[in-house]
Amino acid sequence: MTCPLYIDYTRECIRKYKRVIQVPSFDICQSNLYAECPIYNIISGHVKMCEYTDICDKEVPFIGVDFERLKYISNKFCLHGNEGNCAIYKLRKAGVEAPRNLSPDGSIRILIM
Ligand code: SF4
Repeated sequence: MTCPLYIDYTRECIRKYKRVIQVPSFDICQSNLYAECPIYNIISGHVKMCEYTDICDKEVPFIGVDFERLKYISNKFCLHGNEGNCAIYKLRKAGVEAPRNLSPDGSIRILIM
């Protein structure tokens, strides 16, 4: 079974979360594993999400993120009321602009543009 948002070989979730285009693998979308996809669960209303999710979708680079990393970050920092653990969330709550290369776990990624 494939994800209900994977239609005609297209990830329709991209209409809501453009950063999905940066995740190259379709393995999750084309299998039963879609039920573990944080994007699917956000759009389907199955999980409580951080108030800044939409801002992060526009500002946080997703390049090089695979599905396991997406699940780890989403479940540990962005969803299920865990946003208080997120380094980006803490800065935004304090009114400080978060660096684009800051990850939710506080690590700094090297961005190649
Ligand atoms: S599994 Fe996730 S990334 Fe794939 S189509 Fe569904 S919502 Fe989009």
